[in-house]
Amino acid sequence: MAEQIPSCSGYCRKCGQEHTIAEGPARDYCLELMEVLEEKKRIDLTVPDAEANPHFSTDYLFGEARGQMFGILACRNQKGSKVNLKAFSGQFDGAWVVEGWAPPLFDVRQWHRISHDVEKEIKTLGKEIDRPDTDPARRANIVLQRRELSQQLMKDIHALYTLTNFHGESRPLKDVFIGQNGIPTGTGDCCAPKLFNHAARSGLIPLGLAEFYWGRENKSSSRLHRRFYPSCAGKCQPILGFLLCGLE
Ligand SMILES: [Zn+2]
Ligand SMILES: [Zn+2]
Repeated sequence: MAEQIPSCSGYCRKCGQEHTIAEGPARDYCLELMEVLEEKKRIDLTVPDAEANPHFSTDYLFGEARGQMFGILACRNQKGSKVNLKAFSGQFDGAWVVEGWAPPLFDVRQWHRISHDVEKEIKTLGKEIDRPDTDPARRANIVLQRRELSQQLMKDIHALYTLTNFHGESRPLKDVFIGQNGIPTGTGDCCAPKLFNHAARSGLIPLGLAEFYWGRENKSSSRLHRRFYPSCAGKCQPILGFLLCGLE
């Protein structure tokens, strides 16, 4: 029999135990969000139809780029009123910030400043590697140089991430991540970390979390349109223990 996996959990070093949050009312709110996405076919939901930006059309999720995860964190505020936060995983067609959705765990301007020049340099090296007349010894050198550049870029980008939990503690990603094999690319960009971080910084108390996939299935077919999935084991579980700390 398959082991029962909580929808969202992670080990907390400080408390020496797992912290977990259930779906609570969030699944129903996700079903409502699915209806809105189905009807509006866009994610800039704070503006009227006439002002919709074509850049935020969900058509993007059904093409080459394929779908992505969406999530809702049902919360209550200090006065006891219900507040729902929602998030999309990673970027939406290159955009980190879309009004009405939880922001990423870093300063977006700094992210662009760091990545822009290095990405350009990496692309230039890539072109030289692909050229048939590049000397083999030189090619091997460039391959190495490109790998070092992208590893450094990933470190620099990870250094921008700050995570805040429900004790009000803020820590850099590298201090929070639990694992031996380095921090995977995209750690902190899933819905769950964006949502908990935003809730903690906004003084909201989470009641439940649910995440679903929207769009064309991913290449391995492990993510299907409209299906709910637990928080991922590779990127989210190693930071969720810290993020959920202070909730109980
Ligand atoms: Zn994840
Ligand atoms: Zn804890």
